[in-house]
Amino acid sequence: MKRLILILGDQLSPSISSLRAADPARDVVLMAEVTAETTYVRHHKKKIVLVLAAMRHFAEELSNLGWMVDYVRLDDPDNTGSLYGEAHRALARHGATNILATEPGEWRLMEDMSAWAELLPDTRYLADRQGFVRWAEARKTLRMEHFYRLMRRKTGLLMDGDRPAEGKWNFDADNRSPPPGPLGLPEPLRTAPDTATREVLNLVKRRFPDHFGGIEPFWFATTRSGAQAAFTHFLRHGLRDFGRYQDAMLGGHGFLCHAVVSVYLNLGLLDPLDMCHAVEAEWRSGRVPINSAEGFIRQVIGWREFVRCIYWWQGPEYARRNALAAERPLPWFYWTGETSMACLRACITQTHKEAYAHHIQRLMVTGNFALLAGVNPHALHEWYLAVYADAYEWVELPNTIGMSQFADGGLLASKPYAASGAYINRMSDYCGACAYNVKARVGPGACPFNVLYWRFVATHAPRLRGNPRMAHMVRVWETFPPDHQQDVLAQADAFLAGL
Ligand code: FAD
Ligand code: SF4
Repeated sequence: MKRLILILGDQLSPSISSLRAADPARDVVLMAEVTAETTYVRHHKKKIVLVLAAMRHFAEELSNLGWMVDYVRLDDPDNTGSLYGEAHRALARHGATNILATEPGEWRLMEDMSAWAELLPDTRYLADRQGFVRWAEARKTLRMEHFYRLMRRKTGLLMDGDRPAEGKWNFDADNRSPPPGPLGLPEPLRTAPDTATREVLNLVKRRFPDHFGGIEPFWFATTRSGAQAAFTHFLRHGLRDFGRYQDAMLGGHGFLCHAVVSVYLNLGLLDPLDMCHAVEAEWRSGRVPINSAEGFIRQVIGWREFVRCIYWWQGPEYARRNALAAERPLPWFYWTGETSMACLRACITQTHKEAYAHHIQRLMVTGNFALLAGVNPHALHEWYLAVYADAYEWVELPNTIGMSQFADGGLLASKPYAASGAYINRMSDYCGACAYNVKARVGPGACPFNVLYWRFVATHAPRLRGNPRMAHMVRVWETFPPDHQQDVLAQADAFLAGL
């Protein structure tokens, strides 16, 4: 009984469950580039190039491993444009009886594919989804830190017997240094596109000219060995100071010491556990400090797994959560970068150019502004999903709805990540080049983040008063004289009206 093994664009792992359950001597692998997946949001051009070029290279990798691969290109005249259409065409082509696949990474496809394919669990993740639900439902509040400790015990990473290495679970307090000077900072490894990737670049230029983002220079790796080389480069050059500068932002240097590996990890070109073992080995050999190794491992086995479990646990309606009743449309400058706020201009321009921004740029600049301005969380979610090369709903949505916008009412995050300009000034060099004055709370030229921050505290005071991490700011607001409060609110409202 011949089966069709459907491999999706973010399932580029030779040991994925669908391939492990298949027989290379009998079954046929189907990979299809379809319009439905390239356009369900208007993905950044670089993201489309990355996914399609990595798919083409993976098809070649599988052929070399002895699989029979049927590959449908986007510009094939008979391409139906949907996964369903291509799977059914291929069934007839190969005389196969049924379709086997590893479960997709989002509700939209899960609901579609479960009607016509046999789906196997995706075993490339470290946490067990059902186990997570039992754990979560037995707790009054969810905190990533508790989940993370379970994952440390489960994987044995950075453990000395039953105790955390160096006696502490979390070294985050050492990871908040302001930015260094630009000299001597590492750069991510840039890979020149090969012929196959160039072909995809030309296709994307032709087919998606009106999608967001620049396309050249394109330097993401599109093969497994290229992704591994990029990660090894990070181990040698970025990891040592990763922890220290994890929260820092620097104009003109958007990567600082970050790994720039989510693009590869989320496609299946890198394995999370292998990466974490390699990072631990760097620490155990004395080449990098514990705060860097622990900080990196926490992001991968902690946050990444935690947000994925929340995504599947909460169901498709999580995308519509809006606990703070935020209804403002997304400001147009999120697409153009045309704003006189230097921090937003820098992060959005970088996003347009690189399809990348690091975590604090996403959380504390673009996310923070949207939170303070009361932008509709679903509109913001669609933006994040479109503009980053690493964006897939299972990881992007909880980060946006839960962590960044507090739209789930505090299920994922213990407090809203709201901050005034003082935070951005402390952690970046953006304010020096800005038209606004970060030190002024109100008045001509005052930083918009400042008035918006206090407006946010005032507007949500009834809710924030009950939050141990925000109650203090409500009390501070209440110490401001009434006419000062009036001035702040009037200036914030005028700013928002002008957006
Ligand atoms: P590094 O800073 O070097 O971290 C190493 C790895 O840790 C990352 O590659 C990533 O796999 C993992 N990681 C770190 N933080 C998180 C996190 N909060 N959630 C999940 N994994 C994490 N990450 C995505 O992979 N895809 C997304 O679509 C995405 N959308 C986001 C949207 C918002 C609003 C926010 C605040 C964060 C989002 N993140 C997303 C998380 C994080 O910003 C990126 O994983 C990170 O910036 C990727 O760059 P890097 O590889 O250089 O990461
Ligand atoms: Fe951003 Fe305000 Fe600093 Fe300007 S002054 S860069 S708007 S935080």
